[in-house]
Amino acid sequence: MKIFNDYNLKNHNTFGINVSCKCFAEYESIEECVDFLNKLPEGEIILHVGGGSNLLFTRDFQGTILHSAVKSFEIIEETAEEATVRVGSGVIFDDFIAWALEKGLYGAENLSAIPGEVGASAVQNIGAYGVEAEQIIQAVEVYDCQAGKYEIFRHDDCRYAYRHSIFKEYPARYVVHHVQFRLKKTFVPQLQYRALQNEVVRQGFSAESITASDIRRVVTDIRNAKLPDYHVLGNGGSFFMNPIVDVAKFKSLQKEYPDMPFFETTDGVKIPAGWLIEKCGWKGRRVGNAGVYEKQALILVNYGEATGREISELSQAIQQSVLQTFGIAISSEVNIL
Ligand SMILES: Cc1cc2nc3c(=O)[nH]c(=O)nc-3n(C[C@H](O)[C@H](O)[C@H](O)COP(=O)(O)OP(=O)(O)OC[C@H]3O[C@@H](n4cnc5c(N)ncnc54)[C@H](O)[C@@H]3O)c2cc1C
Repeated sequence: MKIFNDYNLKNHNTFGINVSCKCFAEYESIEECVDFLNKLPEGEIILHVGGGSNLLFTRDFQGTILHSAVKSFEIIEETAEEATVRVGSGVIFDDFIAWALEKGLYGAENLSAIPGEVGASAVQNIGAYGVEAEQIIQAVEVYDCQAGKYEIFRHDDCRYAYRHSIFKEYPARYVVHHVQFRLKKTFVPQLQYRALQNEVVRQGFSAESITASDIRRVVTDIRNAKLPDYHVLGNGGSFFMNPIVDVAKFKSLQKEYPDMPFFETTDGVKIPAGWLIEKCGWKGRRVGNAGVYEKQALILVNYGEATGREISELSQAIQQSVLQTFGIAISSEVNIL
């Protein structure tokens, strides 16, 4: 167990916010973590972080931050068609994809180059280019800090939805120590997402000739071209979730904005939050040290020395303006602390 007191978090959040915590504790096994938790004073505030790529700190954290350094890979079940892989929560998610492809295991490649760790992928239900983590998650192994016991959540118990899971419903209750992924031994390209399809064709591949490694490369290329590098321009990826409105609301908006993009879902009609924000005139706007990325209105950036509060205030101004213009409440995808 590595323990640091009065620890600076600037390198532990991709917004690059200069804050600190009272204590930062990194564990290499869940047993070590539980032992540490049992010795903490009653009422200690706890937060588990991964790579900090979906966190916005608006102040110093007055408690203990946990971080997993559980970095194991293990195939625990295998058939002729599939394999179940048990991966430590501290593994970088993109390293897991690279490992899986090397082993000839498929299903995660569309999620290439998403920052963050395996533990958080199961909490956040990360998604990109037509695939969500829940499609490959078989079970999530946790320690329940409230009940003081180990538990395994099967996929159907995780309450997965768009960027949502049961683990988000109870912040700080569950420590995810391993995630079990079910991957396929035969590669079937998942090309239903239009932007990916177009880029695949543009690069001269066909659905028949493309390999999983090609998909990984194409996805990484698109992401590199579209998203700011957080090492250069601090950000947390998409700041807001795409809102889902009912059909009546959608129809009335469509009359006024016939060019409005949309996707039909089982819960209603999903409208890209980036489009709404851009229509309100925010794209590329800078307020002090914070701003809205010039190439993608869904991304808020730190131009240097922004505080978390500055970014949070900018996000609230954007929410207010989208609500006034469209009557739609957009909520943040980033966890604001
Ligand atoms: C440039 C950029 C692009 C991005 N693109 C995408 C994208 O395409 N799709 C997408 O879905 N997301 C995207 N994101 C968001 C982010 O990468 C994901 O949310 C990712 O899963 C966060 O992982 P992390 O390890 O950094 O977690 P953190 O940000 O550190 O934590 C996220 C949440 O998970 C909890 N948590 C983390 N680890 C554990 C654990 N072991 N046990 C219990 N709780 C835990 C934290 O408490 C927090 O609530 C992007 C972010 C950036 C900066």
